[in-house]
Amino acid sequence: MTEPAKQQPRIYLSPPDVTDLERKLLLAAFDSNWVAPVGPDLDAFEARCAELTGVRHAVALSSGTAALHLALIAAGVRRGDTVLVPSFTFAATANAVMYLGARPVFLDSTPESWNVDPQILADELRGRAVRGQLPRAVITVDMYGQCADYGPIADACDRYGIPLIEDAAEALGATYRGRPAGSFGLAGVLSFNGNKIATTGGGGVLVTDDGSVAKQVRHLATQAREPVPHYEHRTIGYNYRLSNLLAAVGRGQLQRLPQLIEARRVTGEHYRAALGDLPGVTFQPVASYGVPNRWLTCLLLESGLRDRIIHELEKVNIEARPTWKPMHLQPAYQDCVMRGGAVSADLFHRGLCLPSGSALTGHDRERVVAAVRSVAAGREKG
Ligand SMILES: *Cc1c(COP(=O)(O)O)cnc(C)c1O
Repeated sequence: MTEPAKQQPRIYLSPPDVTDLERKLLLAAFDSNWVAPVGPDLDAFEARCAELTGVRHAVALSSGTAALHLALIAAGVRRGDTVLVPSFTFAATANAVMYLGARPVFLDSTPESWNVDPQILADELRGRAVRGQLPRAVITVDMYGQCADYGPIADACDRYGIPLIEDAAEALGATYRGRPAGSFGLAGVLSFNGNKIATTGGGGVLVTDDGSVAKQVRHLATQAREPVPHYEHRTIGYNYRLSNLLAAVGRGQLQRLPQLIEARRVTGEHYRAALGDLPGVTFQPVASYGVPNRWLTCLLLESGLRDRIIHELEKVNIEARPTWKPMHLQPAYQDCVMRGGAVSADLFHRGLCLPSGSALTGHDRERVVAAVRSVAAGREKG
């Protein structure tokens, strides 16, 4: 009988990375008594989000999902409408469409970036224009921190006058042809959930160049209260604003954003160098049109091996996960239309996300690499 090995500390997929800076800003906000969804930290956080994404307006909200919901309202989406959505995404993207009683039509990805295939999008819009069934909006997703191909996507949307909403929840700090993620649609959506590249412990931001969109979203997020002394409501609102305390944490994270991105880039490069020679392994391609923020490093390998790696990493206290399960394969969306599907299904069956947090140490990376290599080499462990 062998002694069970002493368990090493857990390595998470993408844990928050907060420091004394964020702590000080949080306590300063607390001490200022701006303990409400309004205050100077919220204003400064919004201003910085607008600056970083190169747009005029930012509205801080309770989550990225709330930002998607309000972006769709601002785009005019109503009950019974159709919205084109990439299948390969996190459920929040499609769920926001359902909140409004609209229907997503799912589109497949291109293997070149794992983002929505611009050709499938253009074909779908052309076909729908002919049938007189244009969608009310198009949502794109910047997958794992890499922008979709906005040249052809914006062309296709503009041709039919369809508003674009950019789900840049994973992509803060990424660029497409030098232009920041979040700036490509009528509205862009950022997430500051605990697992994202920068966090407020939970939060989201809607960014837009359109002053009337920003105004409408701010109004809807504060219970749609009219600016009169009594409680007057002409429309149904939501309680979606971010707390000033959390915005203070976000301010610290944004100050550190270049380091947060650089740390994830170093980790991604390390995994590529250390695992790229394994048979059949390919990493998420980096498209030549932009610079990703490297939120998560993901790779493809034979699906049996992928599942074995996840299982064996768990035994040595390392969290790794399959890539997103496409929406067209989700029971909750089984009745929805899907265009294509083979690419996103394959990404799901063979995709593996490796621990990519910005506080990951060199020692952590070595543990991950050693564990993956030992499974790939077929050795039995523990
Ligand atoms: C995280 C995420 C969201 C949701 O953001 P929350 O802040 O968690 O609500 C939406 N879309 C994508 C692609 C995401 O990764």
